[in-house]
Amino acid sequence: MLPICQSCGKLNRVGFNYGIFVCNACKQLIRRVPNMKTAMNCKQNEDCLNNKCRRCSFSRLVLIGANFFRDLDKNGRLFQELSSMNQNRSTSFLTFQPKDLSFEDIVDRGMSDFSKRTKEKMSSHEWASLQMATTVDFMKKLQVVRYLTQSDFCNFAKRTYFKCAIFIMAVESKELKMERMVFPGNIDVFPEESISIQHNHPELFNRIRCQLISKLIELNLTEEEFLLLSVIIASDPNVEGFSDHGKELVSHYQSFISSTLMKYCMQMYGRNGPNRFGDLISLIQILTNTMEKLEYTSTLFDICGVNTNKLVKEFF
Ligand SMILES: [Zn+2]
Ligand SMILES: [Zn+2]
Repeated sequence: MLPICQSCGKLNRVGFNYGIFVCNACKQLIRRVPNMKTAMNCKQNEDCLNNKCRRCSFSRLVLIGANFFRDLDKNGRLFQELSSMNQNRSTSFLTFQPKDLSFEDIVDRGMSDFSKRTKEKMSSHEWASLQMATTVDFMKKLQVVRYLTQSDFCNFAKRTYFKCAIFIMAVESKELKMERMVFPGNIDVFPEESISIQHNHPELFNRIRCQLISKLIELNLTEEEFLLLSVIIASDPNVEGFSDHGKELVSHYQSFISSTLMKYCMQMYGRNGPNRFGDLISLIQILTNTMEKLEYTSTLFDICGVNTNKLVKEFF
């Protein structure tokens, strides 16, 4: 029996590509989507069966499980790309003047509203705001975002940027040889106005500052491990308000990055690869734990009238 295209049902020039049987036209579409300049729109309600509609053909390909990310790691390209994205993020974080912008502002305009830093000393609010903004901008450049509609990107990024920013913050503090989370110049991560609240809950605040870092010191991540883990944390498909098609894509992407991390561990640690992988993934649980505690502090701040910047406030 001749194979038929699993997406459009065509019979001619069908081959096994990207993990499914596809015809040549559908294969070309998979290849082209990341570089398409114009948005793909459907003239109907995004459920037409017209094979010429790119939007609907693309959605079908996603739902039947086409492996869009197969070529992402060719010749170590993935690490290079992530590493340069992260360097940009870090440079912006260390050199830009803080600005209190909303999540939507950053999604729309990226870092274009920011200018070179003129301030010498920044407050914890300002560092936090910049940390969040640069993280959202980093997430905007993730490979999966090229396939998502803006509203799907917003829906998932809105629920994960904070977590990703905390992870990056912890790794950066560890690089500064700190045993607790701090901003550059040894600025505490919590605002000064909250000192009296902190006095009443010393254990809570110290656990937030130290829990994740102590595990990071124990594991001593390589750059590759750090990058892949940040992407796994950032691309969590289990959030609400997401289209089926968006969820599917982010989930494919996250599994692709996880399997790249597993492969990396196997190469680097041989027989201990699976253990190393497990240890790395356990960091996500500690991070979730830290987030729960942060949510509690955010409630305390609200009750006591401690002001926070937009990107912190919008998240909780
Ligand atoms: Zn086809
Ligand atoms: Zn359509």
